[in-house]
Amino acid sequence: MQILEGRPVAAKVLAEVKAGVAALVARTGVHPTLAVVLVGEDPASQIYVRNKKRAADEVGISSRDFLFPGGCSQAELVETIQKINADPSIHGILLQLPLPKGLDENAAVNAIAPAKDADGLHPVSLGNLLAGKPSMVPCTPGGCIEILDHYGIAIEGAEAVMVGRSRLVGKPLAQLLLARNATVTMCHTRTRDLAEHCRQAEILCVAAGRPRFITGDMVKEGAVVIDVGVNRLDTGKLAGDVDFEAASKRARAITPVPGGVGLMTVAMLMKNTLLATTRQLGPA
Ligand code: NAP
Repeated sequence: MQILEGRPVAAKVLAEVKAGVAALVARTGVHPTLAVVLVGEDPASQIYVRNKKRAADEVGISSRDFLFPGGCSQAELVETIQKINADPSIHGILLQLPLPKGLDENAAVNAIAPAKDADGLHPVSLGNLLAGKPSMVPCTPGGCIEILDHYGIAIEGAEAVMVGRSRLVGKPLAQLLLARNATVTMCHTRTRDLAEHCRQAEILCVAAGRPRFITGDMVKEGAVVIDVGVNRLDTGKLAGDVDFEAASKRARAITPVPGGVGLMTVAMLMKNTLLATTRQLGPA
């Protein structure tokens, strides 16, 4: 049984981005710049944003903060995003989600210029994904595919099951698997026999936000398991959506939580920021 560690994959992506940034700066003198928009004081969001800024520093991407610790109105938020859209010295926008209650997340994401959509969650980015012509791939699903590729797991022709259908993870990951010619089944809370579907999966991807709810008997012998879930237990420990101990007795390979998919998201955000910058500057 192989543990699909995220660390070496994230390190590889970040090293590639660092080299890409250095080459771009040498060619154009322009430093890729990411705007970080954070509303409210959610501690988890603050940690994510700190990690993202640290990674940006490491690879030579500049970040500019647009912080509203005391909250802001929808109009103020959209105006800020529009200002960033119009600023040619900023190439990517990270709007930290979830937004505090009362703010319209869809409207805020829709206000981001698709060319600067470093998170890949704008309807134009998602539409391009659906059309089979990805422009900006959402970071966490993109990270799952990087892990599969890094460890040489064949996607083409595989029976893939996606548990969860969020805009952030499940839907785009299912599309990415489909684009790579997997046969994809999507499961959600209204799926009739979840266990039976999961047992068919050669590649089982789970993003449901339910700690350890995928039990060992739901995993096919020899399956590859990608666990996107990150759940804080009462003990303070983190757990995935998959019962790692039980699943690893049947799986051929599995991502750990923490230490798996979670490490990929920031690396993919850096990759997208470099891609957005390169596109905005035009061909060499
Ligand atoms: P979400 O928006 O809450 O969506 C959860 C999805 O799972 C929904 O589609 C829901 O179905 C489905 N689901 C929930 N319980 C289920 C059950 N018992 N049986 C079948 N389907 C079920 O969550 P999300 O944003 O996709 O995040 C999912 C998990 O991934 C969370 O633990 C989150 O923390 C983690 N995550 C990690 C990263 C990272 O590592 N960087 C990034 C993003 C998310 P319905 O649509 O029918 O309600």
